[in-house]
Amino acid sequence: KPARPRLPRWLKTDIPVSASFNQVKNDLRGLKLHTVCEEARCPNIGECWGGGKGTATATIMLMGDTCTRGCRFCSVGTSRNPPPLDPNEPTNTAQAIVKWGLDYVVLTSVDRDDLPDGGSHHFAETIREIKRQKPSLLVECLTPDFRGNLEQIERVATSGLDVYAHNVETVEALQKHVRDRRANYKQSLAVLTHAKKVRPNLVTKTSIMLGLGERDEEVMQTLKDLRAIDVDCVTFGQYMQPTKKHLKVIEYVTPEKFAYWGKVGDELGFKYTASGPLVRSSYKAGEFFLKKILN
Ligand code: SF4
Ligand code: SF4
Repeated sequence: KPARPRLPRWLKTDIPVSASFNQVKNDLRGLKLHTVCEEARCPNIGECWGGGKGTATATIMLMGDTCTRGCRFCSVGTSRNPPPLDPNEPTNTAQAIVKWGLDYVVLTSVDRDDLPDGGSHHFAETIREIKRQKPSLLVECLTPDFRGNLEQIERVATSGLDVYAHNVETVEALQKHVRDRRANYKQSLAVLTHAKKVRPNLVTKTSIMLGLGERDEEVMQTLKDLRAIDVDCVTFGQYMQPTKKHLKVIEYVTPEKFAYWGKVGDELGFKYTASGPLVRSSYKAGEFFLKKILN
């Protein structure tokens, strides 16, 4: 049995806290928002919430905390029949987000294969309501694959959002090993392709975890596949095992290697490539959008 790699020093972090972070955190109290940032104890919270002027970013979870899928890297709870949706969630969430004073919000959700529309109306309504109340607030959706249903993808893509994100998670060869059996590489590429097709100006984005045993050539091929369908932004982060029951980390990829993939991404023509051990798909998304997309 091979020895498990030890946690390297670059992953042992103190969460930096700024004054604007504290402000955002105080504002959050009483708004009843479920932020992934807090629930996943994301180490980037100081940087994202306390980002520079006009860039405060947070990720909000919609449609509950129970997923119909069971990806082997993810610690979200699974059930075939999660509780029904709260019909007031889109309005209430939008109101709370607007009140909170963020500049950039990432809306994400569990997969709801139990719902006939995959939850696409719920996403779309939340986005429309946010934009109705505060058009300047930038909205990114990190969506499920909707099992490749084009109508559902289109519903979200045309709802007024700024960035459509869907994660391929890993290279093609490791899809079965890492993701739920209902997910796959081609289907995820098709989601990103369709979002772009129905709204060519929409920014598309995806995320790849490293450290699951992927080979360099496979990562390179993934980047090329993503460029070929005109994906605009990509992020790379270290896979971290959430509990002992989840997939083991095969490798702690060095910061230098992450920097290398960042450079490759730039060379291949992505509008931005965020790459680092602690990077998550929504990492400083507001700041990147402001600096790399608007400029
Ligand atoms: Fe929140 Fe994402 Fe930033 Fe983490 S990386 S603090 S989850 S917005
Ligand atoms: Fe986790 Fe998403 Fe997979 Fe559900 S579909 S288990 S939320 S990664």
